[in-house]
Amino acid sequence: MGEGITIIGGGLSGLTLGIGLRQRGVPVRVWEAGAYPRHRVCGEFISGLGLGSLTRLGLLEALHESGKARPAVTAAFFAGKTSVKARALPEAALCIPRFDLDDWLAREFTKWGGELVLSTRWSGESGPGIVHASGRRPEPAGLGWRLFGLKAHASDVTLDADLEMHFVPEGYVGLSRQSHGRVNICGLFRTRAPVPDLRQRWREWLGGAPNSVLNQRLAVAQIDPASFCSVAALSLRPRRAWGRAEFCVGDALTMIPPVTGNGMSMAFESAELAIDPLSRYSQGKLDWVEAGRQFARLCDDRFSARLRWAAWLQPLLLQPVARAGLVFGAAHFPALTQWLFARTR
Ligand SMILES: Cc1cc2nc3c(=O)[nH]c(=O)nc-3n(C[C@H](O)[C@H](O)[C@H](O)COP(=O)(O)OP(=O)(O)OC[C@H]3O[C@@H](n4cnc5c(N)ncnc54)[C@H](O)[C@@H]3O)c2cc1C
Repeated sequence: MGEGITIIGGGLSGLTLGIGLRQRGVPVRVWEAGAYPRHRVCGEFISGLGLGSLTRLGLLEALHESGKARPAVTAAFFAGKTSVKARALPEAALCIPRFDLDDWLAREFTKWGGELVLSTRWSGESGPGIVHASGRRPEPAGLGWRLFGLKAHASDVTLDADLEMHFVPEGYVGLSRQSHGRVNICGLFRTRAPVPDLRQRWREWLGGAPNSVLNQRLAVAQIDPASFCSVAALSLRPRRAWGRAEFCVGDALTMIPPVTGNGMSMAFESAELAIDPLSRYSQGKLDWVEAGRQFARLCDDRFSARLRWAAWLQPLLLQPVARAGLVFGAAHFPALTQWLFARTR
């Protein structure tokens, strides 16, 4: 038996990496601060090369068979009076609630013989054999914009497309069709000042301006209050893997702006990229530093361009005048949406 790998964080990247390593016979222990199932702030729309990672790990087909996932093939955009009517996505995406997905991956990991330590926050030192899959790094609020995200599930919501993006003055709200008639409502907002009463007023933030299409969509929605969750202090600054002292996957490595709908894909992709160097480290064929270097090179080659495009796109979409221009452009030139879609994944 080879050298064991310890993974801090049982989210998408940690569990996917754990499964991939177990498939190669590597001893793996995952430490997870929480438990399953649990809701996470996420648009629950998986799009990009990460679907290929899931296929190669033998997980995508099994996920479809679980009946919890649903394909998404169309998208529509709304910004004030301008809208882009439902159009085919350049490639099919997959929608699945994190409540189901994280739980399902955790079960797969233990089926493969992985050791899962639940409800325990890991607080040891970093070093050889330790992989950080602990998610986003919170950024202390400075004097600039503060970003926060909200999510809830609802039923009785009629949509024109599998994914609808509604731009509102402070950010945007995505509505995605999930299995069993549920709809994910997920918003990203920016404010200059803290929002102290968010726990009381989250429905107003997600609900859009009176008479807007978003507001009409949600007017009769049956929102599941137990599904509500929020996240604040988001840092969307792109980070390179090269030169990092720690071995990180998923959001712990870098976070791509959520508007791209590519963060989960990056979690799966980075996990897949880590399997080979970590397996070879476990077998004693690579030392820890070289395993980290090989992984960092693979990640930067794969992610740098899309992170640059996303870092450019996200502020434009949060800026009312620029975003009106972009949505107008997308309404009149379908190729623009396809081009931006391709650049950010
Ligand atoms: C508003 C918003 C909307 C989004 N929408 C989408 C979308 O539609 N599509 C998409 O692809 N992506 C989306 N994302 C991004 C996506 O959610 C993330 O990229 C993805 O969850 C990253 O997975 P991860 O495994 O790296 O981290 P996480 O899923 O955050 O998992 C990290 C895990 O580590 C655990 N942990 C942390 N510290 C410790 C510790 N010390 N010890 C033990 N455990 C620990 C946590 O409990 C957690 O379970 C969105 C993000 C936001 C904020």
